[in-house]
Amino acid sequence: MYGFVIRDAFSSPHPLHQFLTTQNVDTLSIQAILCNPHQQVSADTIRLLPSLSIIVTTSTGTDHIDLSECSRCGVQVVTVGGGQFAEDVADMAVGLLINVLWKISAADQHVRNRGPSRSWSFSLGCKLGGKRVGIVGLGRIGGEVAKRLEAFDCKIMYHSRNRRPNVLYPFYSDVVELASNSDVLVLCCPLNEQTRHIINREVMLALGKTGVLVNVGRGALIDEKELVRCLMEGEISGAGLDVFENEPNVPKEFTALDNVVLSPHAGSLTLECFTDGCELVARSLEAFFSSKLPSTAVVDD
Ligand code: NAP
Repeated sequence: MYGFVIRDAFSSPHPLHQFLTTQNVDTLSIQAILCNPHQQVSADTIRLLPSLSIIVTTSTGTDHIDLSECSRCGVQVVTVGGGQFAEDVADMAVGLLINVLWKISAADQHVRNRGPSRSWSFSLGCKLGGKRVGIVGLGRIGGEVAKRLEAFDCKIMYHSRNRRPNVLYPFYSDVVELASNSDVLVLCCPLNEQTRHIINREVMLALGKTGVLVNVGRGALIDEKELVRCLMEGEISGAGLDVFENEPNVPKEFTALDNVVLSPHAGSLTLECFTDGCELVARSLEAFFSSKLPSTAVVDD
């Protein structure tokens, strides 16, 4: 029995495939991979591991794993994110939104860095109450975001592939139409071939000059180059971003803009989530190595 744990994803100089092929690893024996969303598990990597039977990812999203190859090779993919991450990620989305509207991070910088006169001189924030919020992907996270923002008297609407039965929020099958009817867009859907760059220039122009974008889904849901352009040209008002197109890289333009709030993919990095996640990982791997079915969600494409 042999498992492979991918550690230090942010700091690792080697992509997984390169690591496996250059570091004298016994690739024939590896039965399990434990990874996080920052490490790609490509078709090439899966093909390199003939004994691989299970991939456990500490994330909800599976866009870093080649699911078709897993299906083809009979490799189970277990996500340990699931429902228990949703509340924390939703808190992060709402936190980012309030931060952008109230310019909390910029205000903090202002207080720290104000000059010798030590006077307060800061531009007005913007109220959250009453905002029209379009949620892209009203699943577990999107639903929690909606619940929280309802308490702020926001008007919720959403886009997804399917209208959700028993959900009364207005449904938009077209994301451009959703954007043109929203003050804020919150992105909570998975990254896949249909959703890559779902937020393009047309959507941002439809959101408009006072519009705010919040992304807790995946970076590549947004065409990041266009986002930089739209923010710099004032085509949208601000953005709160927990995820980026090419993590851990962040476009340097973002760091110079005080209408952008940045977070290092920390939507589920609470102590509670981390503890629960570790337990689920351990349970899934124990179940696998004792030949039981994992108790958590299994994705096989
Ligand atoms: P979920 O419960 O499966 O909900 C996903 C939602 O997205 C569903 O409403 C689904 O509705 C919609 N959707 C799927 N494909 C779509 C498409 N092509 N176009 C439009 N809508 C689509 O997932 P979740 O637990 O809420 O998680 C969502 C994503 O959040 C994850 O995949 C992950 O990438 C991200 N996430 C981020 C963090 C973080 O730390 N920032 C943490 C956890 C998860 P339909 O099926 O009707 O389209």
